[in-house]
Amino acid sequence: MQPSTSKKILILGAGIAGISAAYHAKLQGNHNALILEKSMRAGGLLNNFEVEGFRFDQAIHLSFTKDEYVRSVFDEVPHYAHYPDVYCYETPHWLKHPVQNNLFQLSIEERVSLIKSFFSRPDSQPQNFYEWLVHQYGEEIANRYPVPYTKKYWATEPVNLGLDWISGRMRRASADEILHGSMTSKTGNGYYAQEMRYPKEGGYRAFIEPLLKDLNIHLSKHVVAVDVSKRIVKCADGSEYGYDYLVNTLPLPLFVEMLKDVPATIREAAKTLWATQVDLLSVGISKPDAVPHLWFYLYDEGLLPARAYSVGHKSPSNIPTGCSAIQFEIYSSPRRPLAINVESLNQHVLEILDKLGIAKQEDVIFVDHRSLPYGNVVFDLGMEDTRNIVREYLYAIGVLLAGRFGEWEYYWSDQAFMSGKNAVEKILL
Ligand SMILES: Cc1cc2nc3c(=O)[nH]c(=O)nc-3n(C[C@H](O)[C@H](O)[C@H](O)COP(=O)(O)OP(=O)(O)OC[C@H]3O[C@@H](n4cnc5c(N)ncnc54)[C@H](O)[C@@H]3O)c2cc1C
Repeated sequence: MQPSTSKKILILGAGIAGISAAYHAKLQGNHNALILEKSMRAGGLLNNFEVEGFRFDQAIHLSFTKDEYVRSVFDEVPHYAHYPDVYCYETPHWLKHPVQNNLFQLSIEERVSLIKSFFSRPDSQPQNFYEWLVHQYGEEIANRYPVPYTKKYWATEPVNLGLDWISGRMRRASADEILHGSMTSKTGNGYYAQEMRYPKEGGYRAFIEPLLKDLNIHLSKHVVAVDVSKRIVKCADGSEYGYDYLVNTLPLPLFVEMLKDVPATIREAAKTLWATQVDLLSVGISKPDAVPHLWFYLYDEGLLPARAYSVGHKSPSNIPTGCSAIQFEIYSSPRRPLAINVESLNQHVLEILDKLGIAKQEDVIFVDHRSLPYGNVVFDLGMEDTRNIVREYLYAIGVLLAGRFGEWEYYWSDQAFMSGKNAVEKILL
């Protein structure tokens, strides 16, 4: 029997999950792993782009991993460790994050009303994310902050979302913290990570750059069809690749569409999975220190972006001397498309910069717009059950899955990295 180290492992997608799969195959002694990537550069979501001498990541990207193995890999790259200086903008206030623990700047009447509502929150078992928010924070805090934010970030109503994705990602409400933060501005850091790491040079992608050495990656290979019975993958340019093992990191619904002879139930199940799209509005500014915080959330419903971050805070190497840069993230979905054209979006961002006191129009060098078709996997009610049916089917026909979209999970980059490692170790160990 052929040893597993000499078998052909074909990996679809060169994001961090696919790169990690090929890298760990090599570490385990298999030098026959090949990645097919549709774009001209490996890196997936961790890639960056340059505009007029400014480098932008594709959305915020900072590393807060606690996983010691991932740290041992990322820490090889010279990096900054930032304190998570996170703020929340609600006209006209800049409130510290998490907002419910930092209500001090609001009027006495507002604070009393929000806190009264907190103390009369229901204790019934929440069945959806809206009920969870009311259960945690009370109706008034929920409806004023996390509900509008959820609509922006998840591009759906909170009542449509399930609960399993929350785990450590949302701050649980504590009466002590809410009361304390309503009486003083001197509150501690409430972010779920204490340190945010970012490469000194080369953007977030620099964390995975050393892994790319000697990997076998075929770029500009747009996978369009997969025949598992013949173990053949076809690309848009007509090329075909055979394999012994297949690792998929492409979005699950997209992958199922490419598969030959899939039962109708699986095809229909995969069609119900959906993700948000992220529109990135990246702005170069001709003056220094214009952006007040490392990143911040925007709570006003009239302001389309959910979040923005300071590009130069992450690393000064991202921006020319004497300048600043900011990137806004606007989320939408096939179920809630953005009802605004690019020109109006750019104008909207200029108005926000002015309103928030960050930059006047004459300080703005450019506004760059681009879209990421896959942002966050949406955990609408019942999604996990449907997704698991699809995953089980794919495992049963011998397809290994990895990555945020391949596994259809809410993975950060460290988890996507580990999922690529785990996938090949299932074959090789
Ligand atoms: C808005 C946003 C902010 C984030 N912020 C952070 C953060 O601060 N910290 C953090 O750790 N993580 C963050 N993440 C998560 C992180 O980006 C992901 O976990 C990680 O990049 C996922 O990697 P992946 O390899 O699974 O997927 P991807 O990076 O999407 O890789 C999939 C690859 O498949 C390729 N592909 C797709 N279709 C085809 C095809 N048909 N043929 C061939 N190739 C194809 C794509 O081009 C891509 O290169 C953020 C994500 C988003 C969306």
